[in-house]
Amino acid sequence: MSSNQEALERLRWKKFPVLNEGFVCLVDAMGSDDAIVQAARVSYGAGTKSVSDDRTLLRYLMRHRHSTPFEMAEVKLMIQIPMDAWRQWVRHRTASINEYSTRYSVAIDAAQTTDPSAWRLQATSNRQGSDGFADASLGAELTASETAFQESARALYEKRVELGVAREQARKDLPLSTYTRAYWKCDLRNLFHFLSLRMEKHAQLEIREYATIIGEEIVKPLFPNAYEAFVDYELGAATLSRLEQETIARLAAVGKIPASLADVEECGDPSWRGLTRCRERDEAIEKLVKLGLFKE
Ligand SMILES: Cc1cc2nc3c(=O)[nH]c(=O)nc-3n(C[C@H](O)[C@H](O)[C@H](O)COP(=O)(O)OP(=O)(O)OC[C@H]3O[C@@H](n4cnc5c(N)ncnc54)[C@H](O)[C@@H]3O)c2cc1C
Repeated sequence: MSSNQEALERLRWKKFPVLNEGFVCLVDAMGSDDAIVQAARVSYGAGTKSVSDDRTLLRYLMRHRHSTPFEMAEVKLMIQIPMDAWRQWVRHRTASINEYSTRYSVAIDAAQTTDPSAWRLQATSNRQGSDGFADASLGAELTASETAFQESARALYEKRVELGVAREQARKDLPLSTYTRAYWKCDLRNLFHFLSLRMEKHAQLEIREYATIIGEEIVKPLFPNAYEAFVDYELGAATLSRLEQETIARLAAVGKIPASLADVEECGDPSWRGLTRCRERDEAIEKLVKLGLFKE
């Protein structure tokens, strides 16, 4: 049995818990690192085999965004996830989905709950993000009100169902914390795209937890070489825009590496100069920091 088949047998239907009541499990998978390479060799011809082994070819494909061979592999998952994270998830349009119907069945009796220590505060630097945590007493108050609200919303829903209201209408006041369940099938090319956006630090923590489990616990053992290439050339990679390359070249030319904020102001792109807020410049500095080219 190949290592891919072994991983498939070991992982199939294994429930990976996420959040308080969520989970991810692998239902099925098609293909392997070998299948990706085999598909690529059809397009490149037998000549490729002599110059590159399978891992090298896979890495070449990922590096140069030759993406169709990755579409030869597929992963089918079953997930249980709160509605708010699911709403972000379904923005990825290249997967096939079948979702639990709350018209047909009573809504899943589970809601995402928040530990008192896990209430994140609104970030001031990034309008979409969070920064730091509520203190213990505020956290306790928020969790107590969350529990009361979720219980009351559920009781209202169940009362409506009991009174004969159609399930399709009774559900309308259930909170976004209510869990839904779905089958989700995606080819590996689009799954990597999903993971690159949702394992990344700007993604909301909740969906990031799902994506990280899918990447690390499911995709990695099934497609070790492809996943390694994905981490090296996509997830862990950084691109340098023309503006950023020119900034680095100017800093180097005047011997200002590592650079200070004032150096970036002087040598950065002219369109950044004098701005009190400039996201593009901030992102450029973030990259300089990562490369050890900035003195903080
Ligand atoms: C951190 C973060 C913040 C976000 N904030 C917001 C927000 O504030 N508001 C908001 O509305 N959304 C937001 N999104 C969702 C985001 O804009 C995308 O809709 C989502 O990430 C899906 O990405 P996608 O379209 O590339 O991927 P998919 O839908 O998975 O598609 C994969 C790829 O297929 C191709 N493709 C698919 N459909 C089409 C099409 N119809 N036409 C052409 N090419 C297509 C594209 O190349 C696409 O990249 C956010 C996403 C992230 C990760």
